[in-house]
Amino acid sequence: MLQIDQSWTLFLDRDGVINREISGGYVLSWGDFHFLPGVPAAIALLGRVFGKLIVVSNQKCVGKGLITASQLGEIHSRMTRRIAAAGGRIDRVYFCPDLEEDSPCRKPNTGMGIQASRDFPEIAFSKSLLIGNKLSDMEFGRRMGMTNCFVRTTDPGFHLPHPWVDLVAEDLPGAIKALGLEDKRRSGSGNASGPGQ
Ligand SMILES: [Mg+2]
Repeated sequence: MLQIDQSWTLFLDRDGVINREISGGYVLSWGDFHFLPGVPAAIALLGRVFGKLIVVSNQKCVGKGLITASQLGEIHSRMTRRIAAAGGRIDRVYFCPDLEEDSPCRKPNTGMGIQASRDFPEIAFSKSLLIGNKLSDMEFGRRMGMTNCFVRTTDPGFHLPHPWVDLVAEDLPGAIKALGLEDKRRSGSGNASGPGQ
């Protein structure tokens, strides 16, 4: 089991981890953005465990001209406000607008991770966990030297072993169980137990 504390950073993919992924389409407005079940509360709990929470998201829809970067920024501020209302936080959202598969910022390329380490020099990738629903997320995490958790929200048949994947969970609340962090459910001491949601 990982010994996660405030010196750790959590990198979260967005679509299929935080919100419902739109198959064959994109989240182009707040009306398209639907949190997956239990996610705001799960992020609140994870925020009590990890020192930093960073979102890294490929968003080709910007490069395609379907949404502007500022409209996407508005969706992310609403997302962040909803998470804050549930007692959680997101420290920074990075997105890659580019269409080209070889764009340095497009996962599995590492540009967003490198940018995060410039913005937050205290990030240690050996003490970072990436949670994503695509193998491109896992490859990104591997290239950065992170521990990887695959969530099966869009690929229910996925199973270990896989060389890029360290842990598998059904979804973000399931990842909390897989990481043995359920006892961090309550705020405060960090090791309280109880029946809280
Ligand atoms: Mg995704």
